[in-house]
Amino acid sequence: MENPQINFVVPLYNEADVFEELITRLKKVISESPLEVTTILIDDGSSDSTSGLIRELCDKDDSFTGVLLSRNFGHQRALSAGFSVVDATECVVVLDGDLQDPPELLDDLYRKHKEGFDVVYAVRKKRKEGIAKKMAYKYFYRLMKRISYAEIPLDSGDFSLISRQVVDILNKMPEESRFIRGMRSWIGFKQTGLEYERAERFAGDSKYSLKKLIKLAFNGIFNFSEYPVKILTRLGVFAIVISSIYLIYTLIMRFVYGTVDDGFTALLSVIILFGGIQLLALGMIGEYILRIFFQVKNRPLYIIKEVIKKSSDE
Ligand code: UDP
Ligand code: MG
Repeated sequence: MENPQINFVVPLYNEADVFEELITRLKKVISESPLEVTTILIDDGSSDSTSGLIRELCDKDDSFTGVLLSRNFGHQRALSAGFSVVDATECVVVLDGDLQDPPELLDDLYRKHKEGFDVVYAVRKKRKEGIAKKMAYKYFYRLMKRISYAEIPLDSGDFSLISRQVVDILNKMPEESRFIRGMRSWIGFKQTGLEYERAERFAGDSKYSLKKLIKLAFNGIFNFSEYPVKILTRLGVFAIVISSIYLIYTLIMRFVYGTVDDGFTALLSVIILFGGIQLLALGMIGEYILRIFFQVKNRPLYIIKEVIKKSSDE
């Protein structure tokens, strides 16, 4: 097959339960679309049969390319691995493998692209998820909007259409802790949103553990904002002002009225409070130092064990 116009890029981690339905839906969308589309499936070190299923499919169908990673690297790096093998001439469409992001949106996304947008990110109108997760997402995105220096659009995840040019730029960004929706915004170009309704996961459980989700949120906050460090400075100034006022008050009480407050409890709570604040401050600075540490190690972001592609002469 000639180079396609569009690649779907779909990272999969233990998605054997969803696989068959995913491929059926993808094939349907691809066959009904006037566009020339192939799909890149990335196995992010699954421990179930996902990699076997990918191999079986990609060995016989040349519209699917399989990328097997050497272990689980996490969603964002799996996506980055997928971007590294993109062969589409026009753009890629990033999808979750669990069918929460409907591939049927392809033509709508592409239409927007044709109107002149380099990035068309899908915006979740409704989320069919637990209330706690919904609230956490909502407030996280609003916090990010306030503190981040990249204009990260509200309620948009990785589900998006990205032009080949922007993908090539993403491939050149060597950031170790990856927050792709932030990097995508930071790049600039013409970007726009397209609303859609986020479906429920087709089968299986979320592959984003709470730990992975918190890591992603931290990557967003510490890689796209100076706010945590700035807030420390402000806290410091605030503490100095308050304690100076209190010092002046104490001196006046001592020398004008001759009384000294019996302040043991107050003293204790202030010591504990500031001990806490100092530890927190160290932790926040530590987040940045850790990021520097991992970045200077300069390890590869992911390791591709194998690329599975049906050769055209078979
Ligand atoms: N995923 C991955 N590596 C991981 C975790 C998740 O490639 O370490 C993939 C997963 O297979 C899915 C997508 O990332 O295609 C989104 O994950 P999930 O649906 O579990 O996240 P949620 O929608 O619950 O936030
Ligand atoms: Mg999901």
